[in-house]
Amino acid sequence: SYDELKKCTNNFSQSNQIGSGGYGKVYRGVLSTGQVVAIKRAQQGSTQGGLEFKTEIELLSRVHHKNLVGLVGFCFEQGEQMLVYEFMANGTLRESLSGRSGVHLDWKRRLRIALGSARGIAYLHELANPPIIHRDIKSTNILLDDNLTAKVADFGLSKLVSDSSKGHVSTQVKGTLGYLDPEYYMTQQLTEKSDVYSFGVVMLELITAKQPIEKGKYIVREVRIAMNKNDETHYGLRDFMDPVIKNTPNLIGFPRFLELAIQCVEESASDRPTMSEVVKSLETILQNDG
Ligand code: ADP
Repeated sequence: SYDELKKCTNNFSQSNQIGSGGYGKVYRGVLSTGQVVAIKRAQQGSTQGGLEFKTEIELLSRVHHKNLVGLVGFCFEQGEQMLVYEFMANGTLRESLSGRSGVHLDWKRRLRIALGSARGIAYLHELANPPIIHRDIKSTNILLDDNLTAKVADFGLSKLVSDSSKGHVSTQVKGTLGYLDPEYYMTQQLTEKSDVYSFGVVMLELITAKQPIEKGKYIVREVRIAMNKNDETHYGLRDFMDPVIKNTPNLIGFPRFLELAIQCVEESASDRPTMSEVVKSLETILQNDG
């Protein structure tokens, strides 16, 4: 597909912009094969340039998993950088949780979204060659396709995006406020467990629909405080829950899901599970649904 995309500027229409982010603007396009794609066009100066970038992108185009947004191709033409991804019809998880996309996510769907994204991240950590630490797991980087299957986006990109880009902290440490592993922030030692922390925050978003930092409150802290006050089933936490799922009669595996989320956001990385342990726990929760 690289050859086809070489002449990419003529290969798809870039008429409709669908978003913009740290990397640049995002367009919807159609390849000559008929495949609908999302095209990310780098803003001038938003990325590191050169051979290193190209090598990295070539590497990423060889990573395939059903819970990762596939990189269909890329092109570098006249100093312009474009990345071409499979199109995710139902947008970001954040859009769905905020009620902006009109997609209704019931509890069971949320469990499947958690499991799917966990599998994608576990694949990056354990099966990709070389292993990849995502560094920017968040609900705007989890996309939903036409079947509401969750796919993780932007893997490998965060280390290529320059420090000055919006939404990224301007130190050596990369990531997004509210999702950032405190231990990584302190020590600048990046490990897979930093992604586990960020994923734990996403799990809390699936329960509460709240953004990690909302009205000056840090959601991880708020949930911990609420949990200390409550019974072991944690159903007292209902005040915190997304109204959309709050009154579901049987929230399958809710206390275990919440406990798993809390383990993922442990202050100390060594207290957090690995991503494949998270996958196993989520599989068990979903299997126990009769
Ligand atoms: P950020 O840098 O904030 O993660 P992105 O550049 O990844 O933002 O994406 C910006 C927006 O473009 C997203 O919020 C989403 O709405 C849309 N988008 C990104 N990738 C895709 C895709 N593969 N399919 C459909 N929409 C996408």
